[in-house]
Amino acid sequence: MWFKKTKPEIATDVVIVGSGAAGMAAALAAHQSRIKVVMLEKSPLVGGTTAVSGGVLWIPNNPHMKDVGVSDSREEALAYVRRLADGRSDDKLIETFLDTSLTMLKFIEDETPVKFAALSGYPDYHPEFPGGKPGGRSLDPGLFNTHELGEWKKKLRRSPIFGMTAMSVTEATEWGVFSKPNSLPFSLLGKRFSEGLVCYGGALAGGLLKALLDRKIEPQLGVAAQELIVDDGRVVGLKAMQGDIEITVSAKRGVILASGGFEWNQKLTAQFLGGQVTHPNSPPTNQGDGLKMAMAVGADLANMSEAWWCPSVVIPGEEYDGRPLYRGDFATRSMPHSILVNRKGRRFVNEAHNYNDMMKPFFHFDEVAYERPNLPAFLILDSNYVAKYALLTSLPGMKIPDWIPRADSLDALATQIGVDAAGLAATVARFNQFAERGIDEDFRRGESQYDHLYGDPEHKPNANLGTIAKAPFYGLQIHPGAIGTKGGPRTDEHARVLHVSGAPIPGLYAAGNVMAGVTGPGYPGAGSTIGAAMTFGYIAGMHAAQ
Ligand SMILES: Cc1cc2nc3c(=O)[nH]c(=O)nc-3n(C[C@H](O)[C@H](O)[C@H](O)COP(=O)(O)OP(=O)(O)OC[C@H]3O[C@@H](n4cnc5c(N)ncnc54)[C@H](O)[C@@H]3O)c2cc1C
Repeated sequence: MWFKKTKPEIATDVVIVGSGAAGMAAALAAHQSRIKVVMLEKSPLVGGTTAVSGGVLWIPNNPHMKDVGVSDSREEALAYVRRLADGRSDDKLIETFLDTSLTMLKFIEDETPVKFAALSGYPDYHPEFPGGKPGGRSLDPGLFNTHELGEWKKKLRRSPIFGMTAMSVTEATEWGVFSKPNSLPFSLLGKRFSEGLVCYGGALAGGLLKALLDRKIEPQLGVAAQELIVDDGRVVGLKAMQGDIEITVSAKRGVILASGGFEWNQKLTAQFLGGQVTHPNSPPTNQGDGLKMAMAVGADLANMSEAWWCPSVVIPGEEYDGRPLYRGDFATRSMPHSILVNRKGRRFVNEAHNYNDMMKPFFHFDEVAYERPNLPAFLILDSNYVAKYALLTSLPGMKIPDWIPRADSLDALATQIGVDAAGLAATVARFNQFAERGIDEDFRRGESQYDHLYGDPEHKPNANLGTIAKAPFYGLQIHPGAIGTKGGPRTDEHARVLHVSGAPIPGLYAAGNVMAGVTGPGYPGAGSTIGAAMTFGYIAGMHAAQ
C-alpha cells in the first residue's frame, strides 16, 4: 500500500492526475528538479488514450526534419497553425507551443528511451495551406520492448487494435498497411510480438513509463482524483478515492491536471459539444473529472464545443475495458470503391479528408426539417473494395462477417439499411463518372496530398476514387466519434489554469486534452494532440517544480 490505511494522507511536492502523455511528460519534467512527484491514475492500467494511440507527435521545425530533407520555419508553422485555430486560441499559447515543443522534444529524447524519426511521407492535414508541409513534422516513436518494464509490463495499457502488430509508423507507411494489407510481413510481426515489442502509442507510453520507473516514480493505479483542496486561494492538494478509501494528497508546489478529455461523460458532452459524440475511441476512464475539478475552483473555460473528431465503426460484441469498443475509421472511407452517404443516399463530405474536419458535416443541421440529415451515415463499398483492401478485421480474401449488411443490388442494399434507393442510385452514377475521370467535382476527394496517404497509390487515375460497380455491395454504418475532447480550463503560457477573473489560480496546472486545446478547432497534422499534450505537460512540470 502506498499510504497507511489508518491515516490515508500523502505529502508530496507535485501531484499529477492521469498517466497519459501529458501526465508522464509533466512528471518527468517536475522530477528534473529532484522534487517529490506523485502520479495518480484512475484506471488499473497505465497510459490512457496515449497508449492506444498512434503515438505520433507533431512538432514543426523539428531537428529530425533535416534527415528527410524537409525545410521548415517558425514563421511558416505559426501562419499555418493560426489559420487552423481560426481565431479561437490565444496567439501567445500557439507561440509557446511552437517554441517549447522543441525544448520538450530534446528533453524527452535525452531523458527517456524514446527516440523519434521524422515521417517524411506523412503530410500535414492541410498540406496545401500556406505554411503546410508535405511531411516531416510528424514524429514516429518507433518500437519499444515491454520486457524493459519488468513487473510493470502487464500494467501498460495495450491497444485492442494494433497492440499485437509491432510495426513502426514508418514501416506501416512504407509497407502499405492500408493499400496492400496482405503483403505485411506477418511472420516478422509474430516474432516481434513474442519478443515483447510494441509500437505506436504503446511504444511511446512504454518508453515514458520506463523513464518514470527509472526515477522511482510509480504511477498509483486505480486511484481517482476527485476534488481539489484550496487554502487561501491556492490549490494545495487534492482528495482522491482508491476503492472506498479517501486519500488526501497535499502537494506543496501544485496539482497538475492531465486527466484527458470528457468524451465518455454523456452529461458533459451533451452540455458542451457542438455535435454529439456517441462513439468515443479512447479508454472509458476519460470522464471529465479534471474539468469538473477545475470548474469547481472557478476556472475559465474555452474550446468547449470542440473535440478531436473521428468517425467510428462498431463490430458487434467487441468490448474494451467493459465498454463497447468503438474503432476510429482512418482508411476505409478513403480507399477507392467506397463512398459515404446520408439517409437520402447523398454524399455530404470529402470522405478522404482528415478525420477531425470530415466529421463536422455529420452534424449539419437542416433548419426547416429541424433535424441532422447526415445522421445516420453509411459507407457504401463494392466487391472490388473487399477484394483489395481490409474491411475492419477482414483482410482481402477473408469472409466478410455476416452482420455487415450486403445485397446484390444497390437498390436492395438501400432498402436494407434504410437509405433512399433513388438517391443512392443517382449518387453512385455521378460518383462513378468522377472515379473514371479521377476528379471529384463535388467534394474534391483525392485532390490533396493528405487524401492520398490513405489511398491506393497503384489505383489510377486517382488513388482515392474507384467506381462502386461490382456486386455484392456492402453498407457499414459510420458513427460520430472522437479520439478525445479538447475543451477545458484556459491556461497561460506556463500551463497555469486561469480563473474566470483572468488571473492564474495559484498551484493549479492543466495539460493535454483536459485543457483548452491550443489549436482551437483545428488539427494541424498527425501528432498534434500528443505533441501539444507533452509540451504543456513539460511546461507545467517545469514551472511547478520551480
Ligand atoms: C486510435 C487512436 C489513435 C490516436 N493516434 C494519435 C497519434 O498518433 N498522435 C496524437 O497526437 N494523438 C493521437 N490520438 C489522440 C491521443 O491519443 C490523445 O489525444 C492523447 O493521448 C491525450 O493525452 P492526455 O495525456 O491528455 O490524456 P490520456 O492519454 O487520455 O490520459 C489521461 C489519463 O487520465 C486518467 N484519469 C482520468 N480521470 C482521472 C482521475 N479522476 N484521476 C486519475 N486519473 C484520471 C485516465 O484514466 C487516463 O489514463 C489517438 C487516439 C486514438 C484513440
